[in-house]
Amino acid sequence: TEKANKKEKNQNIQVFVRLRPLNQRERDIRSLGVVEVLNGKEIVVRQSAHVSHAKKFTFDRAFGPTAKQVEVYQDVVSPLIEEVLAGYNCTVFAYGQTGTGKTHTMVGENTGDETSWQNKITPKLRIYEDITRKGSNIVNGLEEITVYNKNEVYKIMAQGQERKRVEGRSHTVFTIVVHMKENSPEGEELVKIGKLNLVDLAGSENISKAGSDNPAKRERARECVNINQSLLTLGRVITALVERHPHIPYRESKLTRILQESLGGRTKTSIIATVSPGHKDLEETLSTLEYAYRAK
Ligand code: ADP
Ligand code: MG
Repeated sequence: TEKANKKEKNQNIQVFVRLRPLNQRERDIRSLGVVEVLNGKEIVVRQSAHVSHAKKFTFDRAFGPTAKQVEVYQDVVSPLIEEVLAGYNCTVFAYGQTGTGKTHTMVGENTGDETSWQNKITPKLRIYEDITRKGSNIVNGLEEITVYNKNEVYKIMAQGQERKRVEGRSHTVFTIVVHMKENSPEGEELVKIGKLNLVDLAGSENISKAGSDNPAKRERARECVNINQSLLTLGRVITALVERHPHIPYRESKLTRILQESLGGRTKTSIIATVSPGHKDLEETLSTLEYAYRAK
């Protein structure tokens, strides 16, 4: 019956996984690679040498350590571009433990580091309900910048990355809004609008263990609670959409409120879960895969 249920599930949500290669540090300490991509859809995590201690997950697609950016683009993003150009909203999420390749997947090689969170200066985003449009929110503190070519887009992305580098453990939402002018048969000029949201989520690791003996740590602990809350809410929103629940709990986090009009309805959403191959990360890897699997 599980198969039968799956058939009726929301096809507008796709879930992918990407396994990064062992990095230099892991190779130096002779870390064992305990995760393997099998056939383009399956990923296996070995909890010990014993075969029965392996867990297998199946996704819409699994990218192994040699997968190129362009392959990920072709399979995950390019189908969404068609929708955006047809005037719909689409979202790509990168979800996973810090250091597993979320930023690498979303923006490429120059990912910066996320350890300087202490320098955080976060203008707070305030969210208001847009009373003129149901299900739509106004976010105060967001900038919308008009661009005329792709180099301008890259420049803004780089600025956003720099800000994220300073602000550390936070979600990054980069939205490209495409305005397309068309003429109706009557010669009227119509504007079609599509949106692509690229969401590089904060690291999913549970660092709620952060101590509270100094103000900076207390602030960090508070931040973690917020991040965990928003990732949990995102998971619930996705599950509710996948299972077609009548009530979608968008309002339970800022992140889902900001993205509300791009999640659900005639929109497409892709989630890329990123994982590490190393045995030291096993627990986080399993928790990432379980989170992502629930969205399937
Ligand atoms: P995250 O954003 O999840 O914290 P990053 O994207 O910053 O992780 O990746 C951590 C490091 O691993 C970076 O140096 C990045 O270049 C490298 N990396 C991540 N994914 C890959 C990959 N698929 N192939 C090669 N290097 C990768
Ligand atoms: Mg990152």
